[in-house]
Amino acid sequence: MAIEFMGETYEEHHCPHCGEMLTPTLGAPGSGWNVILVCQNNDCEFFKGSPDDIQGKRASNVGCRYAVNPDNGYKPFNLLAWRAPV
Ligand SMILES: [Zn+2]
Repeated sequence: MAIEFMGETYEEHHCPHCGEMLTPTLGAPGSGWNVILVCQNNDCEFFKGSPDDIQGKRASNVGCRYAVNPDNGYKPFNLLAWRAPV
């Protein structure tokens, strides 16, 4: 299975935390990333629970999304992302 995004083909990956298919997303300018695959599920346990894992950020609206980097052999990493205030 593969996903097409902007003329490129990427492996289909699923979030190990919620099972959602990871969505191809352009990395932020200056991030050094090209296209990354990101779990965009706002109900993802990993995303919802992540502020507890970030020291000093507990009170902020920053969370981590599960993501993999195709340029790096689809290696998983934590993508810092803003959480919409609940
Ligand atoms: Zn997820």
